[in-house]
Amino acid sequence: TEERSLNFLEQIIEEDLNNGLPQDKLRFRFPPEPNGYLHIGHASSICLNFGLGLKYNAPVNLRFDDTNPAKEEQEYVDAIKHDIEWLGFEWAEERYASDYFQQLYDWAVEFIKKGKAYVDSQPSEAMAKQKGTPSQPGTESPYRNRSVEENLGLFERMKNGEFAEGTHVLRAKIDMTSSNMLMRDPIMYRILHKHHHRTGDNWCIYPMYDWAHGESDYLEQITHSLCTLEFLMHRELYDWFLDQIYDDTKVRPKQREFARRNLSHTVVSKRKLLQLVQEGHVTGWDDPRMSTISGMRRRGYPPMAIRNFADTIGIAKRVNLIDVSLLEFCVREELNKTAPRVMAVLDPVKLVITNYPDGKEEWLEAENNPEDESAGFRQVPFSRELYIEREDFMENANSKYFRLTIGREVRLKNAYIIKGESVVKDADGNITEILATYDADSKSGSGTEASMRKVKGTIHWVSVQHAIEAEVRVYDRLFTHEAPDADKEVDFKEYINPNSLQVIKGYLEPGLKSAKAGERYQFQRLGYFCVDKDSSAENIVFNKTVGLRDTWAK
Ligand code: ATP
Ligand code: MG
Ligand code: MG
Repeated sequence: TEERSLNFLEQIIEEDLNNGLPQDKLRFRFPPEPNGYLHIGHASSICLNFGLGLKYNAPVNLRFDDTNPAKEEQEYVDAIKHDIEWLGFEWAEERYASDYFQQLYDWAVEFIKKGKAYVDSQPSEAMAKQKGTPSQPGTESPYRNRSVEENLGLFERMKNGEFAEGTHVLRAKIDMTSSNMLMRDPIMYRILHKHHHRTGDNWCIYPMYDWAHGESDYLEQITHSLCTLEFLMHRELYDWFLDQIYDDTKVRPKQREFARRNLSHTVVSKRKLLQLVQEGHVTGWDDPRMSTISGMRRRGYPPMAIRNFADTIGIAKRVNLIDVSLLEFCVREELNKTAPRVMAVLDPVKLVITNYPDGKEEWLEAENNPEDESAGFRQVPFSRELYIEREDFMENANSKYFRLTIGREVRLKNAYIIKGESVVKDADGNITEILATYDADSKSGSGTEASMRKVKGTIHWVSVQHAIEAEVRVYDRLFTHEAPDADKEVDFKEYINPNSLQVIKGYLEPGLKSAKAGERYQFQRLGYFCVDKDSSAENIVFNKTVGLRDTWAK
């Protein structure tokens, strides 16, 4: 990889190293909440954190931020792990915020003893009113000055399950007049009588994000806790919580922020992606039209393409919209290097080579990948009747048309030079067959003079009697708007593209019969396609990954 200048997060890290932080103390984490499948925005964050780990030879933990049992599930934990592994990264340790519930509770008790936390027993509406506004100070809760003993007793009873949800919370006692609203006695614990996917029914009070996150970083001795910009205002609270527990023989984690990455023509929010799944707009989290990592995998995007995309866009301090065509460019670049070439016809018309012996078949040599010598060759069958793409023939073509027409020559890829002779039409005037003749001496690679003749066009084909049928799923953008969720007044689902999936029948060269789910190919002259997980010997299914060039009109 080429040298690039340091990004602003690397600059912060280098500065810390220059100021005496030993390099072997560096430690990062990727902290997903297991409340959905990861999307392309998470991929950016994964590449950032694990990329720093690789660059500085530092461990990176995978930490599940599992503090909200109402929305979290084991299915999501498993999917997240699979996605990170598939991207090719290795975490040092698998951790859970729930591993720290006892420690967090013990610290909270210390807070109460030091007069830094209290139990508030007001309804949430009352607390919301007392919060004030950014320009107006808040009002203190009537429970703010409860005695330590009373607070300890109530907090323990909260933990023991004696109270209903919403009746009490534990709040940090900070400053109801702070200009930072988050510092106005933030909630540390709420009561939730919910089963947790890991801790079961051990707990019925759960820590809030702000209380759990920095402390988890501290317990894991994370040096740089990188998060998206909406947490900028949370940094003061992150630091305040750490101030209360920090022991200066230990590493003190630093929260630093970078801009969330948004991709055009899609949504990157687990909550919205979940809606698409639940309301049946897509077939599941891994629907190939989804911006999820699992959707992109199923669509045929190689992991390296996603990593290259993340490196290309880098990180930023301001939010902006990245055009999805850049991601598609990275996909094409990667597939061009790695995908075997095959021939497939997706909109067939029959071509009969009238001077080719009936009943004869030949197996011709075809190169698997001109970009990769080691990919070798395969054999494809040729016979008298072929399918070619309907758009590769024009009955009355001008001189700029380099595909097949009457009276002119083209080369059939890996095969012979043919000349269009005439057409057969049905009663409505539609072409049902094209008749052509071939030059028997012109076989590709045969070395004859005829085989070296230059003809203007080359078209692909499959042999009718040998071809296998496949279901081919062709996708368009899931949303017609480049930023479907930018306008808060409009439901993003209004912009769902009703024609984002088209299912067609294709004809493939027979070698593809044994193609396995997940394998990626270039259908020559058409684009990149991969075998879907629904594929079986009886019904072969391909997904279109991306076209050969950017043809999408805005
Ligand atoms: P969502 O709104 O989709 O639920 P989130 O930020 O709440 O996103 P988390 O599971 O908390 O999801 O995210 C794990 C990490 O990924 C966090 O550090 C978060 O900042 C980062 N992340 C999430 N979305 C993006 C994005 N669009 N661009 C960059 N990083 C992101
Ligand atoms: Mg989050
Ligand atoms: Mg979220």
